[in-house]
Amino acid sequence: MKTMWAPWRMEYILANKSDTCIFCEAISDQDGLTLYKGDSTLVVMNKFPYINGHLLVAPVRHVAALGQLERMEKGDLLETVEQSIEILKSAMGPDGFNVGLNLGKVAGAGVEEHLHFHIVPRWFGDTNALTVFADVRVIPEHLKATYNNLKPYFKKISITGE
Ligand SMILES: [Zn+2]
Repeated sequence: MKTMWAPWRMEYILANKSDTCIFCEAISDQDGLTLYKGDSTLVVMNKFPYINGHLLVAPVRHVAALGQLERMEKGDLLETVEQSIEILKSAMGPDGFNVGLNLGKVAGAGVEEHLHFHIVPRWFGDTNALTVFADVRVIPEHLKATYNNLKPYFKKISITGE
């Protein structure tokens, strides 16, 4: 992988390799990346983003497949995805989004055992149209700055059904 600007890489290298699931860890937290924690869903910053503002939306329950979610959890999950998109629109003004699930290692899932949606904001002229799938990552703003920008918006988030 070719990384063009990557202060987070050092944190990654220095981080303890643990078996703990990053999403379940985020629920008990203090990683400084968790933007929202509700009863059934959570939103975290991707620590290794494809692009600035790359968010991950997951159910609170540690499940690997959509089929393991209750109907209400699915609704809350999709609503959290939608509200996260709205927040990114307000806070960062992207021109579009890539939103999706990577299911299985072959599809690029980093954390296979805990289902999560990727929300990747896109701007006209952001490197190239294949940023999301390519191995080149360009991060113009430090993760913490983006977190501080987004966090106040997520304080106002409310998911129906919770
Ligand atoms: Zn988990």
